[in-house]
Amino acid sequence: MSWKDFKISYSRINAYSFCPQKYKLIYIDNLYVPLNADITFGHIIHNSLESYHSQDKQTFEELIDVYIQNWKKDGFESPQQNFEYYERGKQILHNYFGSFKETESEILYTEKSFETNIGKYKFVGIIDRIDKHPDGTYEIIDYKTHSKIWEQEKVDKDIQLTFYVYACRNVLSINPNKVSVYFLSKNKKVYTQRTKEDIETALELSLDIAEKITNEDFTPLLEKCGQCDFKNKCAYSPDKLAK
Ligand code: SF4
Repeated sequence: MSWKDFKISYSRINAYSFCPQKYKLIYIDNLYVPLNADITFGHIIHNSLESYHSQDKQTFEELIDVYIQNWKKDGFESPQQNFEYYERGKQILHNYFGSFKETESEILYTEKSFETNIGKYKFVGIIDRIDKHPDGTYEIIDYKTHSKIWEQEKVDKDIQLTFYVYACRNVLSINPNKVSVYFLSKNKKVYTQRTKEDIETALELSLDIAEKITNEDFTPLLEKCGQCDFKNKCAYSPDKLAK
């Protein structure tokens, strides 16, 4: 296998950390993660906000228009479930719009893709949103659409946010003063920050995982099989072996 064009990303690190064999199934064997309502709904909300802000639309009616344009049926189990999520999305966007129209901050970027280097590897990612506040400070915003708000500790340890801070400083020459996870279903942000040490630890982890991937170390973590999306497809899964 050629690793010439290999690029690491948060999603790849996440898959490999869960189970190296899961990484192989997704990124080498090209198996798709089974779609479900939550995955589809997350994409719809992210795409709607990206369309709305990137086209500089202003009104709530325009926000609902882009929401309708971005709506998809894939992954929903029934028309009833589809309808329930659709209504939930409308309420989320209503609350979002109420908060957004009060802010005086400038949206600098939405769905901002970046590519940077970590050691000899390329690292790629997409940041949901970067705002510039009236006092000249910057904020990275990561949208979440699930209903549960994370504890502060989980937000503080989230490695994806650490990569975003690293990318902002290295690629965009922006030093973010604030990092927030915006739990859209509750219209609530949880704020955090990252230290130099946090960034060094995240870079070391990504280098280590990139090395293991390019050395083709895909040792399965069998203790994860019960929670795995691929337990019915993976050759190592006890569920599959029992069939
Ligand atoms: S089923 Fe088990 S071994 Fe296979 S990818 Fe999932 S966690 Fe890894």
